[in-house]
Amino acid sequence: MKRIGVLTSGGDSPGMNAAIRSVVRKAIYHDIEAYGIYYGYNGLIDGNIEKLELGSVGDIIHLGGTMLYTARSEDFKTLEGQKKAIEQLEKFGIDGLVVIGGDGSFQGAQKLVEHGYPAVGVPGTIDNDISGTDFTIGFDTALNTVIDAIDKIRDTATSHERTYVVEVMGRDAGDIALWSGLADGAETILIPEEDYDMNEVVERLKRGHDRGKKHSIIIVAEGVGSGFDIGNEIKEKANLETRVTVLGHIQRGGRPTATDRVLASRLGAKAVELLLNGEEGKMVGIEENKLTSHRIEDAISRKHTIDKEMYKLSKELSI
Ligand code: ATP
Repeated sequence: MKRIGVLTSGGDSPGMNAAIRSVVRKAIYHDIEAYGIYYGYNGLIDGNIEKLELGSVGDIIHLGGTMLYTARSEDFKTLEGQKKAIEQLEKFGIDGLVVIGGDGSFQGAQKLVEHGYPAVGVPGTIDNDISGTDFTIGFDTALNTVIDAIDKIRDTATSHERTYVVEVMGRDAGDIALWSGLADGAETILIPEEDYDMNEVVERLKRGHDRGKKHSIIIVAEGVGSGFDIGNEIKEKANLETRVTVLGHIQRGGRPTATDRVLASRLGAKAVELLLNGEEGKMVGIEENKLTSHRIEDAISRKHTIDKEMYKLSKELSI
């Protein structure tokens, strides 16, 4: 292997830059040239590719977003697009590719593998929804952003004795809601993986109110439904002053936490090692604080699950 390419794809996440830096520097450390592909799979198809040096990835470890930019590419979902992408990789003499992204990006990487091209995956998404790793790059930063926002909401909720509904990201995965809810002592956490009974939510709120609680915070993962709809329902049924905050895209941005920078550095370097060892078609992960790898094919066919014990604990602690 003489040349390795790296791209970021799908939703951006804080720590992607640290992962790019790690891939590039680990490659150069092993006397391998590193190439950056801009705008995800679109850039691959268009040949938007540039050689990266040690200095190209200097001063980015602390930055959110991705210096390679990202995209959602419909063209790459077609066989024609995939063939064009491989032609570009061959034209630039790139022998292996590191794809940093979420579940969809891994599906794309798997297509390359099926066409016989060596690709490996690095899990980068704030959702923490990839099977085969305990944590994805960006989750810790997003979680801390949410916690910071909820701490502020809690101040005003207490001052006005209000109930606050906070909608957080997570279309299919409730990890951001569950972890932030547990970290912030939310009264109720609604996640897509678990059914809920609105009457029980209202009863819990009323019980808290009756024992003199000054505020209540309800975290809703976006996949459960609109925070505004849930807020209205609570207002009607519980007859409590209710306000709704949708945190939205602030959850995607910001400086990566130390945890995400370290995770990204470890996973990026491990991905290069996999390519050098001929272990293509795999994704890197972290499980019980050990670096691991799994076939991308297996990772995308298994659904990420939430920690049921944590969900149970969140209920026990908010009686
Ligand atoms: P996040 O979950 O953080 O948004 P993601 O990687 O899951 O990230 P997607 O938009 O699902 O984001 O996927 C990113 C890109 O991966 C798609 O725009 C497409 O180019 C490629 N991709 C997704 N699914 C496939 C597929 N089945 N075949 C080929 N390419 C795919």
